[in-house]
Amino acid sequence: MSLTLYNTLTREKEPFRPVVPGHAGIYMCGPTVYSDPHLGHARGPVVFDVLRRWLEHEGYRVRFVTNVTDVGHLVDDADDGEDKLAKRAQIEKLEPMEVAEKYFWAYFDAMASLNVRRPSIVPRASGHIIEQQQLTAELIERGVAYERDGNVYFDVSAWEAYGKLSGRDPDELLEGTRVEVRSDKDDPRDFALWKRAEAGHIMRWPSPWGEGFPGWHIECTVMSTKYLGDEFDIHGGGLDLVFPHHECEVAQAEAAGKPFARYWMHWNMITLGGEKMAKSKDHFVTLEELFADYDPLVVRFHLLRSHYRSVSDFSEEGLQASAAGLKRLREAYRNARHGLPEGVEADAQPFAAFRERFAAALDDDLNTPQAIAVLFDAARDVNRAVEEGASPAYRAGAIALLDELLGEVLGVPPAEDAVHDALATVDGLVDMVLAERQRARDRRDFASADQLRDRLAELGVTIEDTPQGSRWRLD
Ligand SMILES: [Zn+2]
Repeated sequence: MSLTLYNTLTREKEPFRPVVPGHAGIYMCGPTVYSDPHLGHARGPVVFDVLRRWLEHEGYRVRFVTNVTDVGHLVDDADDGEDKLAKRAQIEKLEPMEVAEKYFWAYFDAMASLNVRRPSIVPRASGHIIEQQQLTAELIERGVAYERDGNVYFDVSAWEAYGKLSGRDPDELLEGTRVEVRSDKDDPRDFALWKRAEAGHIMRWPSPWGEGFPGWHIECTVMSTKYLGDEFDIHGGGLDLVFPHHECEVAQAEAAGKPFARYWMHWNMITLGGEKMAKSKDHFVTLEELFADYDPLVVRFHLLRSHYRSVSDFSEEGLQASAAGLKRLREAYRNARHGLPEGVEADAQPFAAFRERFAAALDDDLNTPQAIAVLFDAARDVNRAVEEGASPAYRAGAIALLDELLGEVLGVPPAEDAVHDALATVDGLVDMVLAERQRARDRRDFASADQLRDRLAELGVTIEDTPQGSRWRLD
C-alpha cells in the first residue's frame, strides 16, 4: 500500500508511515452532544469511515477512537459562557447527562443510517475527569501552566511551538483574541485547562484547585493518548477545529513530553446551495430532515463525490445527480447479477486495471471522487459486456468488484435495498409459476393450468396470455 495523506502539520502530502507497522491508530474529534445531529456532523465520520475501511482492506489493524464531549464545551467555543450541555438541560428541563444521552444516540443512530461503522472506542469527557486533572497538574509542574483562583491556564508564552499546527504567528494570535473583561489570565492567548465552577454550575468535580470542570481542549489530548498511546498515527477534525482546538491539543501534549499525532487530517465545510450553513440564519438542515427526503446512502455517496479537503455543496440538483449516479452503478450490478446462477467462479482479470486505478485514487490522499469515477468507467464496461452476452465468470467478476469497492470500501452497498430485493424475489416466483402453468398447458392439462392462474389471481397477480407468451402484473 502506498497511501499518502495531506498533513496539516507539514502542509504536504506525505507517505503514511504508522508508528507500529501494520497498525493504524486514528482519533477523530466527535460531537458535543447537546443538539440534533445536522448535515455538518456527517462529513467527517463518512470520510474517516472510508479511511478506516480502506486501511483495513489493505490489511491494517485499525483502532478508531471518536470522543463525545459531554462537559466543558462552552457556548463561545473558548473560555467563556455557559456549558453547552448545561444550557440545553435548562431549556429541556433535563439533567445534563440526560441531554448527553439523548443526543449521543441521536448522533450514532444517524451515523448508522449513513452506514458509518461504530468506533472501536467512544470515550466521554465526563468519564475522564481524573486523567484531565492529572495532565493539568503535570503541565503546572513542568512550568507551562499556572493557577489563578481556581482556574488553571496554559501559559502560551512559555511554549514556543504554539502556533505550529495552524501556522499562525503569536501577534496574529493576539489579534484574534477578544479582550476579555475581568479575565484573570496573564496573557489573553492563554487557554483554560481547568475552570472554577461558579455557584449554580451543575457539572462540577472536586480538584486540587477547588470545585470545577475541565477545559474543552484537554479532553482530546487525554483521551487520544490514553487509548492510542503518547504517539499515534492520525488525528482528524473539521477545518474549523485547527485553531484553537487542535493547536491547544498539540501544545498540551508536547509540553507534557508526548510526541502526539503524526498526521493531522482536516475536512472542509459543507455548504447548502453554495452558502455556508448557519443555524442562526436558519440556513441549516438536520440529518433527520435530510433523510426524510433522501436515502441516507445517497447522502453518503454525495459526500464522497467531493474530495474531503474541498467544500462539499448540498443542493437539490447535486443530490439528485448523486442519486442518479448511484442508480447507474446499481443498475450495472443488477444487470451483471440478473439470472446468474449461484456459485459461479469470478473472473477477476478483466477488472484488474479498474482495481489498480481505484487503489491509486484512494492512496492519493483519499481521493474518493476519483475512485467513484473509476467505478463509473467499470459500470459502463460491464453494461456493454452484459449486453453483448458476457460470460457468467465475467459477470461474477463484475459483482465481486462492485461488492468489494463500492460496498465494502466506500460503504455504499451496490445491491438494492430490501424492498427491491423482495420485489426481485416476487418476480422470480411468479415466473416460476408461469413456467409451470405453461408446462401444464403443453400437456393439455387445462384444469391444472387454470388452477394456477386462479391461485395467482387470488394473490393479486393477473395473467394475460399474448401471442408472445404470458405476461403478468400485480394489481
Ligand atoms: Zn477534539
